[in-house]
Amino acid sequence: MLYIVPTPIGNLEDITLRAIRVLKECDLILCEDTRHAGILLKHYDIATKTISFHSFSEAKREEEIIERLQKGENIALISDAGTPLIQDPGMRLVTKCHKQEIAVTSLPGACAIPTALSLAGLEPTPFQFLGFVPKKPGEMKRLFAKAYCYPGLTLFYETPHHIVKCLDAMPTDMEVVICRELSKKFEEHLSGTAKELLAHFQQKTPKGEMVLIIKGAGQTKAFEECSADELRIKLEEEFTLMRKEAIKVAAELKGISKKNLYK
Ligand code: SAM
Repeated sequence: MLYIVPTPIGNLEDITLRAIRVLKECDLILCEDTRHAGILLKHYDIATKTISFHSFSEAKREEEIIERLQKGENIALISDAGTPLIQDPGMRLVTKCHKQEIAVTSLPGACAIPTALSLAGLEPTPFQFLGFVPKKPGEMKRLFAKAYCYPGLTLFYETPHHIVKCLDAMPTDMEVVICRELSKKFEEHLSGTAKELLAHFQQKTPKGEMVLIIKGAGQTKAFEECSADELRIKLEEEFTLMRKEAIKVAAELKGISKKNLYK
């Protein structure tokens, strides 16, 4: 059986009793970084053998792991923090196990997405998670435009090095929440417009791990009532999308054909 085991996202106490038992009892632990995992394993007196299993070794190690699972071994998969596969390695292995009918189970546990979502103080449903904010300015703006049009919350993982660029690329009145250093000593919840949070980080150097949440306007009356062309103009002016891209996004969201909007 393959066990997908979440580990803490900061506070070492955030691990379940079941996760500790599985890690103690299994035959092998696949770790994104064995040295990093060592801190947690030592803390909980877990002596199980570990091997590294990261994005670069995933394909190479797969066959050997599948063989061991087929022989009946119990293997646990952990990442450096939180839930494996959530922006962490493991997807190929899990898919392969399903294909080969090898039993897989996923233990519930720590993950930055639901933790931030319940702290944000905004209606949490619907929400979408779009991974890390893209580095390329064009892609970043397109995703922010989609987040603006979404009828709920859009969550991204973000780094302190990129957050200023990110806030600077948003329309100034975009509603944003940043949950920083969750479960750690300097945990912080910041909410305001993109302009306000940009000013905050221009004064105080951003640090630590963070989840960025954008409140979409898709549910508001103003958004529902605006025409596809008004939306196209907003996307071009406030999100600086190229006309072709703005037409594509606006037509898709308003449910009309691109051809009609071109006209
Ligand atoms: N698998 C992890 C999970 O379940 O949340 C996420 C791994 S991803 C490689 C790392 C990113 O998750 C960080 O850059 C940050 O955006 C977010 N993250 C992880 N721990 C966090 C924390 N304690 N507070 C805020 N964000 C965190």
